[in-house]
Amino acid sequence: MELKSVSPEGAGAEMMRLIAELYPICRSITGNGIRSTLSKIHDVIPISITEVPTGTRVFDWTVPKEWNIRSAYLDGPDGGRVVDFQNHSLHVLNYSLPVDSHVSREELDSHLFSVPDQPDLIPYRTSYYRDNWGFCLPHRRRQALGNGTYHAVIDSDLSDGALTLGEVLIPGRLKEEVLVWSHICHPSIANDNLSGLAVTAWWAKHLAESPEPRYSYRFVWGPGTIGSITWLAKNQDRIPNIRHGLVAVLLGRPGEFCIKRSRRGETEIDRLVERVLRETESGVEIRDFDPYGYDERQFCSPGIDLPLCRLSRTPHGEYPEYHTSADNLDLISAAALDEALAACISISDALDANRIWANQLPLGEPQLGRRGLYHNTGGTNPKKREHAMLWLLNQSDGNRSLLDIAERSGLDMLLLRDVAAELESVGLLKEARAET
Ligand code: ZN
Repeated sequence: MELKSVSPEGAGAEMMRLIAELYPICRSITGNGIRSTLSKIHDVIPISITEVPTGTRVFDWTVPKEWNIRSAYLDGPDGGRVVDFQNHSLHVLNYSLPVDSHVSREELDSHLFSVPDQPDLIPYRTSYYRDNWGFCLPHRRRQALGNGTYHAVIDSDLSDGALTLGEVLIPGRLKEEVLVWSHICHPSIANDNLSGLAVTAWWAKHLAESPEPRYSYRFVWGPGTIGSITWLAKNQDRIPNIRHGLVAVLLGRPGEFCIKRSRRGETEIDRLVERVLRETESGVEIRDFDPYGYDERQFCSPGIDLPLCRLSRTPHGEYPEYHTSADNLDLISAAALDEALAACISISDALDANRIWANQLPLGEPQLGRRGLYHNTGGTNPKKREHAMLWLLNQSDGNRSLLDIAERSGLDMLLLRDVAAELESVGLLKEARAET
């Protein structure tokens, strides 16, 4: 039997295709960019959409006005076009108010955003909660702008509407849920937001097409911060039923995985993802909880405090292309997405496998050879499978989980899962707690 979970055939290329389709769309925390993104996710896995009206109180926050943009450009004193939103969605300060003004170079400057250290890149800037308008552009181009009158046009509107969330529940044998969250609010940014949403969409599709999982899985896609706050505020009755959670982001670049632990720090999901990701080729770095970051901030706020960790590769702000036009399709790869999906599938497989078994013949070792289970002639170096058998029989006293045994033995959880199934089939192990 295959001991590693693998990503479905061709999934990496399909994820890349979806990301390429979504890349040009100008997303934000509300508006039609999010809706068309969710409709593309719906083509991968059918989801339900929730619209939460502008003005709805959600904990300490209020759902903002909805922002939509049709076009935007900045023309120079000679009539030449300096920047055009049609060429790149990052060119407009996200949530810019509508404007159609002739402004001096000096006045214009307070509405321009660029990064001197990265003079050829367009930075990603937002102004969700402060009325403003602006253009983002490479610093080199900004420096070349001469004096004179500029024509700034942003055809956007900020009006009463809604905040949009997408969600799917994959029912499992247990009512208890695993919550998986990915943000979908960034405009043309590939690794930050599109990679996470693609991997989680394919993970949901994989679970929906596989035999019923042990836990029920709830996947939610929404805007960062205000989206997770809104979802939590509208779903408070569901919170006690969430047994495990993951925020999945920044998964499209090759390299080591990174787990940020939950606020509680040592929950089953914290320990399990660490074990599973240590088995991957890329390996994993474990970080302790930190209240700065993505939506784990909301899921791990003190009044919510879910057993939820963040799965990413290089975290936000730690790679040079972060939040710029260089976080584009060239930065990510089908192979990296495939590996991330395989890692996610390993996590759900390991959650399925993490049962508590009881050895049915605990007085001395059961005679494995008689049962055709022990192929060695009693050497001192039992093969891995036989070693796993001994560990399972020794540790399965009705209290220790498969994860406990994996941690203590250093053996792969999926190897232990397969060997436990073998021992169950000959009556040597029995599940200690029946699932309800
Ligand atoms: Zn971001």
